[in-house]
Amino acid sequence: MPSKSRQWFGPLALMLVLASAITASAWANPTKRDGVIGPVAFARGSPVTVYIDIDPKSKLDAGDPERRDRVGDASKGIEGWVTPLADIGQVTLKVVKLDGSGNDPATGKPPDLTQAGSVHVVWESSEVIEAKKGNAQAYSDEPLAAGFDDGKGHVADAQATTGAVIHLNDDATANTAKDKDLATKNAVHEMGHVLGLDHSAVNAPANVMNPKTELQPANATPTAEDLKEMKNVYASASGPDRFDITATDTSVALGAGLYRYSYDLRYNAGPDFGLFQVGLGAGVELFDIEVPEGWEWIRNGSVLSFDPTELDGDVPYLNATFPELQISFVANGLPQAQPAWVGRLTSLTGPAAVDAPATLPLLLAAAVAAAATCRTRRWTSDPCHAGRAEPAAAFSLVDLHNTRPLVRAMGKIAVRAHPDKLRPWGCSFTARSRAAR
Ligand SMILES: [Zn+2]
Repeated sequence: MPSKSRQWFGPLALMLVLASAITASAWANPTKRDGVIGPVAFARGSPVTVYIDIDPKSKLDAGDPERRDRVGDASKGIEGWVTPLADIGQVTLKVVKLDGSGNDPATGKPPDLTQAGSVHVVWESSEVIEAKKGNAQAYSDEPLAAGFDDGKGHVADAQATTGAVIHLNDDATANTAKDKDLATKNAVHEMGHVLGLDHSAVNAPANVMNPKTELQPANATPTAEDLKEMKNVYASASGPDRFDITATDTSVALGAGLYRYSYDLRYNAGPDFGLFQVGLGAGVELFDIEVPEGWEWIRNGSVLSFDPTELDGDVPYLNATFPELQISFVANGLPQAQPAWVGRLTSLTGPAAVDAPATLPLLLAAAVAAAATCRTRRWTSDPCHAGRAEPAAAFSLVDLHNTRPLVRAMGKIAVRAHPDKLRPWGCSFTARSRAAR
């Protein structure tokens, strides 16, 4: 950035973040509703049952050119995860095809979808799906995380593993074979999301988590790339290929009830590592989350997850060639030992619960604190993100999606914003804009 712009940028940015704080409360808890990565994975050793509704198009008359029955095709896709899950996650995956009345043929009754580990596959028109998600293919509602299990960072709360729904489009095009193929590909892809997988990069080797259907493998079978990611979600903390990561944490009081929590992760041995999670106390608000280039964060209930954004050869997994990783964020909870998943269950310092929800004064104080932090950093030769390949953008407002033109007008370098990640403010943005799910 030219030095000239620095002179006005700091004060202007401060004004903007203060203005943004006034409206920040509505967005104080950013959530991500699709394409989430861990810790939505089901508990190790637990059963997962996928109930598939009948294809509405199968109710058409036999001679109707739109008649389709793609339940078998969708089932085939989901069953692609059976073996990897048994091997990696010790999760038993079963597919049940519901009858025309929505009953489980084994019991003659509708399935109890409130049962932990239940996943429901429904069919909708592409119009309905597109209206909801902006793409006409499919999407999934993932289970919500609310706790930890036996040390792998996975959900133990029975309620947390319900609510997963896979929405597949039931369009009948002129190409029956293609319709059936899409049902398989969409099912395996969305089930991957439900199991905790994120998208791969578009230019990654063919894998079922590629956001573009045409770049997914023809046989719709999870590949080595998919399984590598799955291994991180259902990570092995024991056995010959256990993850071996050392994590150290620090917390610094910023005043106004805010603390900066920092985590240094160091690779020791084992497979490539790509998922770090820390538990959050109730009512904790997060600000100014910093992750290395190529990593992203996702908050899902009480769990804050960090993971690499790509699956191709350039993915910054923590491994022998990329042995260190720093992550930090500001929060309003008091420091306290919190469970974190860093290859094994570890107690790291994290934000404990706060009594009252964040208020406007708190947000204003947070904005000032962050402004001071960023300003200090920007006035050194070291930008917000030391070692980043490109300069970090400085500030943005509440909703990056809406305010990006303004930020651009301020002469900033590219701001990459995730539409689902609304950040009250921050000194850098590392989230990538991603294709529609
Ligand atoms: Zn997707």
